[in-house]
Amino acid sequence: MTKLIKLAIVGYGKMGKEIEKYAPQSGCKVEAIIDNPQDWEKYGSQLSQLVDVAIEFTSPGVVVQNLKKLMDLKIPAVTGTTGWGKDLPAVEKYCMESNGSIFYASNFSIGVNLFFALNRYLASLMADYPTYRPLLEETHHTQKLDAPSGTAVTMLEDIMQINPALKGWKFEKEHPSQEEVSVIAHRIENVTGTHKLTYESDIDTLSIEHTAHNREGFAKGALLAARWLMDKKGIFTMNDLLKL
Ligand code: NAD
Repeated sequence: MTKLIKLAIVGYGKMGKEIEKYAPQSGCKVEAIIDNPQDWEKYGSQLSQLVDVAIEFTSPGVVVQNLKKLMDLKIPAVTGTTGWGKDLPAVEKYCMESNGSIFYASNFSIGVNLFFALNRYLASLMADYPTYRPLLEETHHTQKLDAPSGTAVTMLEDIMQINPALKGWKFEKEHPSQEEVSVIAHRIENVTGTHKLTYESDIDTLSIEHTAHNREGFAKGALLAARWLMDKKGIFTMNDLLKL
């Protein structure tokens, strides 16, 4: 029988509530919910006794301190918070030094991770055809704090790593050069998230697109990652989990 996992939800917003909804069917029992500094104080060091693993979906301003607290408490932590890429080296170092367990993903949906693989493959094909100009458009809800989205940033990093002729990215309105990927971030009420990558030449247009219909895929992916992470030490991503 699958072991019941005791879970802490850190960040009880849209994603935290979605995690709570799908936890039972993923064999997880929510034992603690932390949504602000007072909740952290309330649980204190007892949190380590209460839970096996934590799932964190908060905001770029608090994610790093939350991950450090969880590492100090020896609680494996899965985070889906986006917009903190510049802090990743410091978190990696802290994780290694404290023998911690961290899993991060800019997007937990299986479909998006297949889409990432498609993006990498397309980038390797298109690298030989510089007449095609890449444009990445993403559409999210108006409360989203970061732009471009974490998912878009992952796609851009992959494109630039595979095609060294592309040396950076810029928003379309900032007039990117031939060596930069154009990016447009649309913000619209009540949408879950779309990413569309287009390669355009004078002759034709090639595009790939992913649209999330709801938040279910993010929540289920994060719960899957939590179970996977529990007996591991180090810092991991969806590529490790899905063997992509
Ligand atoms: P949200 O604003 O609805 O919820 C964030 C919650 O964090 C709030 O309830 C807030 O009270 C809480 N919070 C603030 N400070 C805190 C602290 N110090 N400790 C604990 N909780 C604290 O946001 P959301 O839509 O749930 O998204 C959260 C993050 O997840 C964002 O960065 C978003 O971009 C990202 N996201 C990632 C994925 C993915 O698959 N990786 C999917 C959806 C959203």
